[in-house]
Amino acid sequence: MNTACRAALVVFGLCLSAGAGELTARMNLSFDRVRHGGPPEYTDDFLLADAAPKHVRRFTEFSGDVSGRYIGALAIVAQQSDRAVPELERIIAELVQLQKPDGHFGDPFSTGAVTKSDMALLWGNGRLLIGLLEYNRFKPSERVRTCARKLGDCFVQLGPRLNDPKVREEFSGDQVAVGYICWTQIIEGLVELNRVTHDARYLKLAEDIAANTFRHPKQHSHGFVTALRGILELYRETHDAQWLQKVETEWEGILASGNLLPQGALPEVFKPLIQRDEGCAEADWLRFNLALWAETRKPRYLENAELTLFNEFFFNQFHTGDFGHHTFSADGIGAGAARAWWCCTFHGLRAFPDVLRNAFHTETDALCYDLPVDGDGVITGLTLRADATLSHDATVTLSVRDTDDQEHSLRVRIPAWASAVEVSLHHTPLGGVRKNGTLELKRRWLRGEFLTVTYTLATHVLTDAQHPGRVAFKHGPWLLGVNEDNSATFFDEPYQRNRVIVPATTNGVVQLKTAADRFTHRGQFVASAAHLALPYLPGGYPCQPQLVTLRPMAEHTTIGDTTPWVFWFEPTK
Ligand SMILES: [Zn+2]
Repeated sequence: MNTACRAALVVFGLCLSAGAGELTARMNLSFDRVRHGGPPEYTDDFLLADAAPKHVRRFTEFSGDVSGRYIGALAIVAQQSDRAVPELERIIAELVQLQKPDGHFGDPFSTGAVTKSDMALLWGNGRLLIGLLEYNRFKPSERVRTCARKLGDCFVQLGPRLNDPKVREEFSGDQVAVGYICWTQIIEGLVELNRVTHDARYLKLAEDIAANTFRHPKQHSHGFVTALRGILELYRETHDAQWLQKVETEWEGILASGNLLPQGALPEVFKPLIQRDEGCAEADWLRFNLALWAETRKPRYLENAELTLFNEFFFNQFHTGDFGHHTFSADGIGAGAARAWWCCTFHGLRAFPDVLRNAFHTETDALCYDLPVDGDGVITGLTLRADATLSHDATVTLSVRDTDDQEHSLRVRIPAWASAVEVSLHHTPLGGVRKNGTLELKRRWLRGEFLTVTYTLATHVLTDAQHPGRVAFKHGPWLLGVNEDNSATFFDEPYQRNRVIVPATTNGVVQLKTAADRFTHRGQFVASAAHLALPYLPGGYPCQPQLVTLRPMAEHTTIGDTTPWVFWFEPTK
């Protein structure tokens, strides 16, 4: 970060408290889209059409889906960033009027065999339950708790019908968005309702559903990972080890089944129906890994959260602030894209506060800086603020906001993607001790000090188990690719026969030259710190070798929504 930015941060204390790096800017983009953007605009009538229901737009049969996600996402972001969202109170006042006598929202449930329409109703009402309770976390409200209780009682009534193994089997095929996940995703809201009310019936129902939760092919990944997040919350509430064991086993199962793609994406639908991503699934996987990291401190969860955050999650965010779908192709991302304003836009926004909260963690004897993103770290006697400009200059600024003038330890994680990490104070390296994958600095910190963490980014060559011989490139935390907007001639016919020239590697690490546009192509969400030049032989004219700029796929937010990317390359023989 340059001196002028730093000075501005000091003068405008409010800006500093909002964070000055890419993560905060991306959260603000989605926050503003939900509140003021469009089309479609989230007017009161538009939001509440699913709760009424009034079938005037797509997916109103998922009653409570849009309205519940809207309330939950805005409440949690407002809480995290200390911002007022006055419209929430108005919308909730209108919403509670729409609750049916049995506690649910929307059209009636069937009375005979469970139908797909029942599943859609369950899905939306489950999203609404957690959304209401997230609002209650932000602004405790008797009116909201009463409404949530009535909805929870409705689920308790429905429990025996839906927990029937025959219903589970029937809806564990290729029903996708109206599959059994519509029932299992409710666990999250039930656990939270138990936390708020201490009514054991909700916890018992959550346990019954958790015991009936399984992964299967062609399953909707967003629904399944939401259920896993709920089961992890169940563990946090009950401390019953079986639930932690279950979610860790399922985490391993997702990886072993080949459903985690190299950019940290889960497909919308599990194999063999992999076709496109879904912002909701990516947000869930990110939040699930962060929660597992917080619970276990196993590095694999932090590393996977980071992989998804810097690649698929940022990639998935549209320039409008929406999240949604992109079509996979054989060598990267194809030309299809859809802004999923009915779900992903909210669920993407909802993930940001979880990331901000996990930038740091505390140990009994140290404050630890884990993810190179914006965030606040607090231990007794020391408060730090991180402002990350990793994408521009591979650095993070840590400012000392408060201190008791005693000695404290700061541990800065040394990620596998960095060949070195250095911390300096006013351009003077502080040294430090390498300890368990961190750089530890123990000293008396002074209020107002600015530290610079500099990451030396390494370039790794990845291989493709499915297609031996193909390679991909990672620089720092970013997966690199070539897109048609920025590099049109790379897509000259027949681009599939392009052959890249890869220098010799040492332990998977390669040296590529900095791209010529690295210092000229800047701007919001452009990760110029990772622009590298890759030599290649064009498929149509190999007699004229060319250079193309590899850039992070996270930059997709800055280019055309439907622009294709290539990130798997065939090297020359
Ligand atoms: Zn979605």
